[in-house]
Amino acid sequence: MIVDLLIALILVPAMSIAAVILVPFAYAKCSALALARWCRHARALVLTYDDGPGETLTPQLLALLRRHQVKATFFPLGRSAVQHPDALDQVAKEGHELACHGNRHCHSWKVWPREALQDIEQGYASLARWMPATALFRPPYGKITLFTWLAVVKRKARIVWWTHDSGDTCAGTLPTVESVVDGIIQDGGGVVLLHDFDRKGGGANPPRHQFVLDVTRRLIERAASSDLKIMTLGDLLELRRQPRLRPARDSALTNILQPP
Ligand SMILES: [Zn+2]
Repeated sequence: MIVDLLIALILVPAMSIAAVILVPFAYAKCSALALARWCRHARALVLTYDDGPGETLTPQLLALLRRHQVKATFFPLGRSAVQHPDALDQVAKEGHELACHGNRHCHSWKVWPREALQDIEQGYASLARWMPATALFRPPYGKITLFTWLAVVKRKARIVWWTHDSGDTCAGTLPTVESVVDGIIQDGGGVVLLHDFDRKGGGANPPRHQFVLDVTRRLIERAASSDLKIMTLGDLLELRRQPRLRPARDSALTNILQPP
């Protein structure tokens, strides 16, 4: 009787939490590690921008990327895209990759499953003008549950994370641009998380806007001198699918992937 009660009170909830949150959490960590390993082998640098578009920052960013002839991956929110469709039109027009980040940045651990699932569906629906229903999905805060995981798999989309957080949304003082860039270059590339939504305060160009622009510019400059190839996340995943280019531990993959 006591054992049954203990199972009901402790074991069942613990196993439910493990199935719903911990297993997807472990999957997310493993995916990020695999992504980092692949970037090192491919000498790849992927610039990604979440939570946009921002009416001010996104056009500034596009001008910078255009000047350097670099393509990036944007993960806009459905809600923001509806507010600033022109900015997202421009992102698409300039040939950058667009993927889904949900509708209103819903933390799937903190809301009921139904709400998290609705947010994903609404996100794809709001962004349908700019991307296919199977576009990559990056979960807000990087958090998934078993329910959101299955929902994305069901629509034949793919969940993607990042390997390096630039720290542009960190609480308190921003890190220095060079410390962020040094870490990424020393790691042999990676998938960098930045944000292109508009921050409030600080006049026309808040310090965090400038930080995003400076990290982007320095990464582009350092990539060129560090033999790193800048590509979109979709292109990186496509390379990974090609068997002949898969990293055979310490193969000559680096040479194969270098541009002529
Ligand atoms: Zn986000």
